[in-house]
Amino acid sequence: MKHPHCELLAPAGNLEKLKIAIHYGADAVYLGGKQFSLRAHAGNFNEDELRKAVSFCHDNQARLFVTVNIFAHNRDFDKLAGYLRFLAEIEVDGLIISDPGIIRLAKKIIPAMSLHLSTQANVTNWNSALFWQEQGVSRINLARELGLDEISLIREKIKAKIEIFVHGALCISYSGRCLLSLYLTGRDANRGLCAHPCRYSYRLEERKRPGQYFPVEEDRRGTYIFNSKDLCLINRLPELLAAGVDSLKIEGRMKGIYYAGGLVRIYRAALDYINQSLRDNPDQVPGLGPEFMSEIMKLGSRGYTENFMDGPPGRDDMLYEGPRVDQVYVPAMLIGKKDGRIFFAVRHKIEPGDQLQYMAQGLANQDFTIRSIRDMSGRELDQVQPGSQVFLDTDPLINWEEYGLVRKIGNRLSREAVRE
Ligand code: SF4
Repeated sequence: MKHPHCELLAPAGNLEKLKIAIHYGADAVYLGGKQFSLRAHAGNFNEDELRKAVSFCHDNQARLFVTVNIFAHNRDFDKLAGYLRFLAEIEVDGLIISDPGIIRLAKKIIPAMSLHLSTQANVTNWNSALFWQEQGVSRINLARELGLDEISLIREKIKAKIEIFVHGALCISYSGRCLLSLYLTGRDANRGLCAHPCRYSYRLEERKRPGQYFPVEEDRRGTYIFNSKDLCLINRLPELLAAGVDSLKIEGRMKGIYYAGGLVRIYRAALDYINQSLRDNPDQVPGLGPEFMSEIMKLGSRGYTENFMDGPPGRDDMLYEGPRVDQVYVPAMLIGKKDGRIFFAVRHKIEPGDQLQYMAQGLANQDFTIRSIRDMSGRELDQVQPGSQVFLDTDPLINWEEYGLVRKIGNRLSREAVRE
């Protein structure tokens, strides 16, 4: 059962990811159109895809919000009015905006539309939150740079809904307010083109010795001095719900189906667990068991931090040793349905005898072995490469669901890690 008050808001980089997120229990999704959205490389939706996305969401009792969160220049406004009218006409449920000029335009030409303030506006205090509320914003995504006590105080002071990021990549600057990418690569983070140079490996150069680079090393792989660990507030959900947060947002429109779908599944399970515990014992804020975090660790990351929850982050919240932590599992298949029959869209090489894991809804993982594989015309196959669609016979038989995911232990080292 979904929380009656607190929404789980998932990224949807494309239509496939949107359907997977809703399958695993997202109450709402956010996505970008081809125009006026940050994350320009996130596979944004064209007009036809936007219509389909809205229909799928509404048919499945989910809401859809569209990001229009660039910092606009004068020239952008020529096309913006038509785009905003189009979004209203196809009945999206809200717009995510950061530029006051776009908010002003939206209020004027589509006054009934819900306007959500993007995290790019960096709201860090209740006075700012009140200011935006007075501008007609119905929901505010607070800056990631806030502690639990600050979030609670803002909640007390404003009526607008409060949304916070609970999971995903972090910037080393105030969210998105960063010129590193523009300076080093010519790609502007504030127009959705960040090349993520904060994840690069850096060297030191002495002024009088041009071209002579000194390694900045923690170990032989160097050091990634700007590389923040990823945000993960799974263990803080009970407190965040108690503080009255209205929406929990997962970052990652550019991430793959496995990461985004896997996270929605775990956060859904955690919210359901908390709600059930509160129904059983309304006076006690429940704690979450280790099983939620251990599932998250199977998804691959840069390591995790709770960021500003209890105070400013420090050394331990950075990942200096490399761009990311080794990933144990890899996505192997996405489950589809054609003419009422389940098939598998293969994403990683599979063959008969392989042992895999089906990620059912909730936290239930079901291990199985492939007995045989057939292509869509029924021919038996010895091995299947990524990109194919196949039918499977498995042991045991499993009650598959469309848009479910199947994973596989990755490389040899990872297999040993899992055995240990
Ligand atoms: S370079 Fe890194 S810190 Fe800067 S905007 Fe891009 S992701 Fe954020």
